[in-house]
Amino acid sequence: MTPDDPVSALPGVHSSRIRILQENGFATLRDLLLFFPYRYEDRRHPVPIAELGSHLDGPALVRGKVISANAKITPRKRMSLFEAILSDGSSAVKLVWFNQPFLKDQIHYGDRISLYGLPKVSPYGSLVIESADWELSEGEDEGAIVPIYSKVGTIAPKTFRKIMSAALDAALPQLADTMPPALRKELGVIGLRLAVEGLHRPLELTPEFLRLRSKAHLRIVLQEFFSFQLALRVRRALEEVKTKSRTIRVDDEVRAEVRRILPFKLTKAQRRVLKEIADDLRGERPMYRLLQGDVGSGKTIVALIAAMLVIRSGHQAALLAPTEILVEQHFARIQQLLEGSGVVVAKATGSMTAAERRTLLAGLQGDYIKLVVGTHALLEERVAFHSLGLAIVDEQHRFGVSQRQALYAKGDTPDILVMTATPIPRSLALAMYGDLELSVIDELPPGRLQVKTYLRDNSRLELVYRYIDDEVAKGAQAYIVFPIIEESEKVNLKALKAGYAGVVERFPKRRLAMLHGKMASAEKDDVMRRFKRGEIDILVSTTVIEVGIDVANASVMLILDADRFGLSQLHQLRGRVGRGTRESHCILVSDGEQERLSLFARTHSGFDLAELDLQTRGPGELLGTRQSGVPKFRFGNIVRDYDLMEQARDLAITVLAREGPKKSEKLARQLLGVPINTAIEKD
Ligand code: ADP
Ligand code: MG
Repeated sequence: MTPDDPVSALPGVHSSRIRILQENGFATLRDLLLFFPYRYEDRRHPVPIAELGSHLDGPALVRGKVISANAKITPRKRMSLFEAILSDGSSAVKLVWFNQPFLKDQIHYGDRISLYGLPKVSPYGSLVIESADWELSEGEDEGAIVPIYSKVGTIAPKTFRKIMSAALDAALPQLADTMPPALRKELGVIGLRLAVEGLHRPLELTPEFLRLRSKAHLRIVLQEFFSFQLALRVRRALEEVKTKSRTIRVDDEVRAEVRRILPFKLTKAQRRVLKEIADDLRGERPMYRLLQGDVGSGKTIVALIAAMLVIRSGHQAALLAPTEILVEQHFARIQQLLEGSGVVVAKATGSMTAAERRTLLAGLQGDYIKLVVGTHALLEERVAFHSLGLAIVDEQHRFGVSQRQALYAKGDTPDILVMTATPIPRSLALAMYGDLELSVIDELPPGRLQVKTYLRDNSRLELVYRYIDDEVAKGAQAYIVFPIIEESEKVNLKALKAGYAGVVERFPKRRLAMLHGKMASAEKDDVMRRFKRGEIDILVSTTVIEVGIDVANASVMLILDADRFGLSQLHQLRGRVGRGTRESHCILVSDGEQERLSLFARTHSGFDLAELDLQTRGPGELLGTRQSGVPKFRFGNIVRDYDLMEQARDLAITVLAREGPKKSEKLARQLLGVPINTAIEKD
């Protein structure tokens, strides 16, 4: 048989089980071979029960005969218990399972069983093993290392192991290695058959093996990561067969002008990042760079200077932002900075009049407008440039790949700079943006007041409200955020409206407004504008205020049920205050988990918080579902196997440079088994 044969070709497997396999995505024997155990039990060395007392630091394998078995209900909590006593001749130990009343039909007096569990000392001083994995021992698994697979439908573990064993016997010898020997050598990995065999039937559970770093593991994970990284690089290489036709000069004259524009001294981090960008702009290959920097780290000015370099070499620049209000904010600031420079700046939004639109289109095409700041309106088909040299995307996670590409298509291989305030840990960035260059502004401008963060429980909400009232009386503005995360649900909106009504009632003398994602964007922008102009004292909202809004006079951020948010999200919200000269406060109200929130209160680095989120909540949570785009890996784990991802990326770069895009694409395809775009498509 071959790995391509259907699972139904396996001899001796009942048709009902074949159906379960098929329903769970196992079409061919290869699918089975590449389904690996998630842990192993060493059943070669049962611990004599008499010695269990010195094995309290980890699960132990015990084998023996059941000498008593009873189902019980606990008198007070009315919980069902199943208790048994297991004897192996050396001694006996009590076994307990909770809420598994059916065990009385499965474990009987006199049965021989093997079990794997953590022994502990009961309050009465005797040994007990609770809720252990167990199996009737029939001899066949004894003396072996037993692979444990995730449950497949209703197939019993033992049966599944038999099926797997049959598949291995039948198809493993024919499993072809898709990795050329030379590449295997470069990655330092073993052959595929050896690796697959090693993962299903390990001979020894070495420390490397238990850390998932055996030669077998390395082969599988490195293949997965390498083919992914190579595919990313190949896609980019194929897209940019052209080198840039423009030359960007950075001479003394431009430098002097940049100095004139700058209203402050750049931080060291800003200067470093600016140099990275300028080097890219002057290079032959189009830039494709991700600029990360915490809220308030000063990304805009860096982007503006990059734009000036391009403009002074005779080209145009565009800045794309997710909301109209952000566009206005950027536009106003940029106009102010560029006053007297002679550079014509325009803005493009959905609310332009027909006449404004005509002027804009003519100005862009006629090369009169040099810099345009806009929303999605910028992506419309009729927007055309004379010579777009640099496309900047602010808050890039709000845009999909296709929108970035639409902007890209408006120029002749323009340079691209995407910016984000969501710090992305290196491990994640490498997996998500392996094909982007990364720049990080890891320093805040001097003199920034740190936002003081407090944690309160709901019983003290009234005190918090009183504090807000006092601050507003002194002229400050405040945000109150409700934990409405999935805004598509009506129920949630109702909760927000009810919450809003409550806040309105609590602050009868204050001017309040509500903001949420279901509002039309013109309406949202209007509320934000009024808040910015100081016509609203307290803004009650969902997380829609997360992105980029700059209201210097707002100095209180109250977040209700704060435990419902991820740390990165809380950090984004906290970044909305502390943007002016007022001392600012962020108050988290929660009756839930305190530990994570108090860690947040003490931590002010967005990168540290993102890293914590990634470790504890995983990449999807960190970035939010809408902006996810995190590739899913079957075998490797981007956090745990970060070093392997780096190794894979480095080799992908080397291989691409040596073999060229065409050959590399063929190799990636061969390793992936599917076309590269299918394998790396994100959004
Ligand atoms: P973000 O990175 O969040 O987009 P902005 O570019 O909006 O941050 O900058 C935040 C504020 O900091 C702005 O008011 C900006 O003028 C100011 N700023 C930026 N860089 C510096 C600097 N080097 N020194 C002082 N203020 C700065
Ligand atoms: Mg910004």
